[in-house]
Amino acid sequence: MTVDPRRVESIVAEVLERLEGRRDGGPPKAAGAALGVHPDLDTAVKAAQSAYLAYDQVPLSTRNAIIAEIRSTLAQSYRTLAEVAVEETGLGRVEDKIVKNRIVAEKTPGTEDLEPIAWTGDHGMTLLERAPYGVIAVITPVTNPTETVINNGISMIAGGNTLVICPHPNARRVSNLCIDLMNRAARRAGAPQPLFHSVETPTLEVAQALLRYKGIRLNVVTGGPAVVREALNAGKKAITAGPGNPPSVVDETADLDRAARDLIAGASLDNNIICTDEKEVVAVAMIADRLKESFARAGAVVLAPHQTEKLRALLLEKENGPRHHAVIQRKYVGKCIDVILKDAGIPCDSTRRLAVCEVDNDHPFVWTEMMMPVLPLTRVRHVDEAIDYAIEVEHGFRHTASMHSRNIDKLSKMARACNCSIFVKNGPNFAGLGHGGEGPTSFTIASPTGEGMTTARSFTRVRRCTLVDHFRIV
Ligand code: NAD
Repeated sequence: MTVDPRRVESIVAEVLERLEGRRDGGPPKAAGAALGVHPDLDTAVKAAQSAYLAYDQVPLSTRNAIIAEIRSTLAQSYRTLAEVAVEETGLGRVEDKIVKNRIVAEKTPGTEDLEPIAWTGDHGMTLLERAPYGVIAVITPVTNPTETVINNGISMIAGGNTLVICPHPNARRVSNLCIDLMNRAARRAGAPQPLFHSVETPTLEVAQALLRYKGIRLNVVTGGPAVVREALNAGKKAITAGPGNPPSVVDETADLDRAARDLIAGASLDNNIICTDEKEVVAVAMIADRLKESFARAGAVVLAPHQTEKLRALLLEKENGPRHHAVIQRKYVGKCIDVILKDAGIPCDSTRRLAVCEVDNDHPFVWTEMMMPVLPLTRVRHVDEAIDYAIEVEHGFRHTASMHSRNIDKLSKMARACNCSIFVKNGPNFAGLGHGGEGPTSFTIASPTGEGMTTARSFTRVRRCTLVDHFRIV
């Protein structure tokens, strides 16, 4: 699909115009202008700093009302945001992006995440509370543009902060549309000023300037290795959510039909562009053929070896040898499988979501974060070898891994050994994001800096107050 920027512009303008017709209590604005979106970085930072001072004065009940209004406003816009995102970025699937937007809007925790702690004893009482950093610098990816704005946005304002966001340049319109929606919702619920700020034209240079901006004390970045490096080198506190390459081990005790269904659902979600989506299957040899049959029965396109070779030529721009990352053809990232297979001369109908191909242990499809709905399957001799090999292909990111097995010893072994921020047992990886699995969600999974799935408390400073000899009530 080719992206027509004029079409995206006109959809966004249309949405904004429609919003102008709503009674949201604010002054009328020119159609097409977005609330919180500034012509340059200095103006954005200044506005976020002023907003922080005002927001710091509002009670917790107003914070809660703002978050509730943001959630309900977004609930009316999941489809619009998903359609504009697909149109602008050319990545992923509208229906899947609706699901992703819903997950973050509904399951990102608010202020309830900021539980205070009190210690009492003979010497009185000590109280621990979580305070905001102030203005946070935020860099967001093209793969989850609105999801990251929503998820970071709710978490950070729950912690009492305001944000300056530099979206991915290829997702600036949809990101800024989302920022506008969230600011309007916040204003209706009593926010004294817009809480989310951004620039009209984000670039790499703007992102780098934001990460080094004097007076901003916390950087939060979500993206690939380059932006993680930039944030870590900026000379201030950074929370970095970097790349992954999640392996999924399937052993001889697994329910193979269920594993195949879960792997198809997980690896095809938004055409595999989510960092947590399953990127390769490591199958124990004894069940590898049966697992491939289960994949075929569950609706995956299972490729023959000569077809896999065609895909290798199509999808990789440059190979760097066995067991190394290859350079991918970026134009196929996030594309639907029928589009990819058609270009490789392989017939496929548009109802299919995923192709599975068997490859050897050294194959670049296994060792590369492809972000395409092509799931390589590779076989190893036994489950212990599978666990060791899976840890190697994860490249030490310690991001996400999964296992399908009924052997609780091996499940526990891999959970410990892979040492990842997210480990999913017997389910699709999105269960680890709280979708069909328990717990809150996050779309900023900070493995390099160790916060894991970030929530409001990740974006707060811990402060402690001690009252000597009084206030114990027992
Ligand atoms: P990307 O690294 O190309 O871009 C991410 C953001 O960083 C963008 O806003 C981009 O403009 C900015 N950026 C990139 N290089 C930069 C540099 N040198 N200096 C300053 N800013 C820079 O990644 P993407 O294609 O948008 O997203 C996909 C990548 O992000 C994948 O590797 C995926 O695994 C990762 N990701 C990780 C998480 C997580 O929670 N760990 C979530 C989403 C995506």
